[in-house]
Amino acid sequence: KPTLLWLRRDLRLGDHPALLAACHRGGPVIPVFIRDETVDDLGAAPKWRLRLSLKVMAESLAQKGSQLILRAGNAQDVLEQLIVETGAGAVYWTRLYDPQATARDSAIKAGLKDRGIEAQSFNGHLLFEPWTVETKQGGYYKVYTPMWNAVKNRDVAPPDAAPAEIPAPDHWPESDVLEDWNLGAAMRRGAAVAASWQRPGETCARDRLGWFSYEGIDSYGTARNMVGVDGTSGMSDYLALGEISARECWHAGLSALHRGASGAETWLKELVWREFAYHLMYHTPHILTDSWRPEWSAFPWHEDEQSVEVRAWTRGRTGVPFVDAAMREMYVTGRMHNRARMIVASYLTKHLGCHWRIGQRWFEECLTDWDPASNAMGWQWVAGSGPDAAPYFRIFNPETQLEKFDPDGEFIARWIAEEKDSPSPTALAYFDAVPKSWNLSPKDAYPQPVVELSVGRKRALAAYEARNF
Ligand code: FAD
Repeated sequence: KPTLLWLRRDLRLGDHPALLAACHRGGPVIPVFIRDETVDDLGAAPKWRLRLSLKVMAESLAQKGSQLILRAGNAQDVLEQLIVETGAGAVYWTRLYDPQATARDSAIKAGLKDRGIEAQSFNGHLLFEPWTVETKQGGYYKVYTPMWNAVKNRDVAPPDAAPAEIPAPDHWPESDVLEDWNLGAAMRRGAAVAASWQRPGETCARDRLGWFSYEGIDSYGTARNMVGVDGTSGMSDYLALGEISARECWHAGLSALHRGASGAETWLKELVWREFAYHLMYHTPHILTDSWRPEWSAFPWHEDEQSVEVRAWTRGRTGVPFVDAAMREMYVTGRMHNRARMIVASYLTKHLGCHWRIGQRWFEECLTDWDPASNAMGWQWVAGSGPDAAPYFRIFNPETQLEKFDPDGEFIARWIAEEKDSPSPTALAYFDAVPKSWNLSPKDAYPQPVVELSVGRKRALAAYEARNF
């Protein structure tokens, strides 16, 4: 009897425990991707990026004589329908950890078992699943460094190769056509610019990881903060969609460490930040929607998405060049440097006094590497309301940060066009990409600051002191 391999955020063939198990089970394997409400609810950029990934995955499966079946609808209904159509005896998948997915998956598992269908889930998304790491007192880690110390010397099984072949059924079930799903539709803006740098899929992920772990990683310790430089691994899109496994990244980092690459330990630590985010989301799912520290729920942040401040921030018109450049880059390309994420998040929640949820939602709309756990943790870390967060009174100064992390002005030149004699094509591309209703032109004067930095800083500190934390 066939096995349905239900693919979600694991769009690769290598190091894929659920796929390997499906192949070993015997009988044909039918890979299926379901466009359920979790897919429909994705922001414009992550949905656009998903389309690229599905396209490559379909090609990779075809090269193995297999096929990616696409179906839309409620996941449970679709799986049950496919079981009827194919006579499948088992459904295998890779575990996810956000509350929506875990609730859906547990209900599906129970429903399948009741009907005598084998239902098995596997770990393919994380290095250390949330229930496998505990503090000495029991319970999960609320602070990052002790978690790092607890896991850094653990044995992580080496990644598995892709299966040599994927057994195919005699007859394939019907599939939707990917292009009919129109996953890229809402990414009207800038898709052309974004496409110019996107290298989707497992092969490109592995190539980039190879380059990074043999060359880039040596300068990672310093280059990782320079916003105008390609100094980080660029693995986040790949990891978000599972085009590469965390285990493969971990082992590449470990090999670099063993050959003495100076940035290797720092990089491995970043991979564990991702794990930390997942542990927090699993054990305290309210991190996705509410202040993780309850005392912060009453903090007087503004949450009006239509306010002048929020509009200036989302449109890259705050009058603060570092913030505006970063926001414009994200809008057009779907990506933003980690240092820039910290700056724009600090500016929104502190200088502008706006709720971190506004930023969380806008990032969800705009980032191709959008990941529920890392995004929520990142916002709450900067805002001060999260676990192991930066203290609220640490307010980044976007001007001094710019001098430090973009000393040659490369980043600013790439994204700011106003009042420049010959603006760069990327800076101009932003104006082509934004909706007409925003009424922006590169010939406009560069905006005056929406708030003076010193005024915003004082206001934030006063609000903080008034709460008496
Ligand atoms: P590298 O520096 O090469 O790091 C390697 C990998 O480690 C990354 O791919 C990522 O998986 C992980 N990692 C690195 N930094 C972090 C971090 N701070 N938290 C969690 N994991 C980390 N990352 C996302 O993947 N998706 C998001 O939606 C997201 N939202 C963020 C929002 C805010 C406000 C902040 C401050 C950070 C956010 N991050 C998010 C984390 C980080 O900015 C990105 O993972 C990183 O910029 C990706 O670039 P890279 O792959 O080249 O990273």
